Order: sequence, then C-alpha cells, then structure tokens
Amino acid sequence: MAKKAKTAIEIIALQCSECKRKNYTTYKNRKNIQGKMEFSKYCPFDRKHTLHKETRAK
Ligand SMILES: [Zn+2]
Repeated sequence: MAKKAKTAIEIIALQCSECKRKNYTTYKNRKNIQGKMEFSKYCPFDRKHTLHKETRAK
C-alpha cells in the first residue's frame, strides 16, 4: 500500500471580512507560515480593498 504523502502546502481561500465572500484562493506553506494569513485585497462586490482572511477552501 502506498502511503499518502503529507504535504506542507495547503490550499486556502481568502474570505472578504465585509461581505464574507471567498474571492481568492492561494497556497500556504505551513512550514513557513504560522497562524492565519490576512491580505488587503480588492473585493469586486464591495468595489474596494477590504481585509481578506484565510479560511478553508473546499
Ligand atoms: Zn467583500
């Protein structure tokens, strides 16, 4: 039986803190990044830059 390789790279979604939409997905290296990631990104629904926080991608 082949063992499933454990990867440090995780796909995450970036959720807008204002409208709660998941506008972006990105990769996160768990070896390098501790804790939650936050980015100021453009939200097309709010039509401005808002804070996008890391959340689970499906
Ligand atoms: Zn938004």
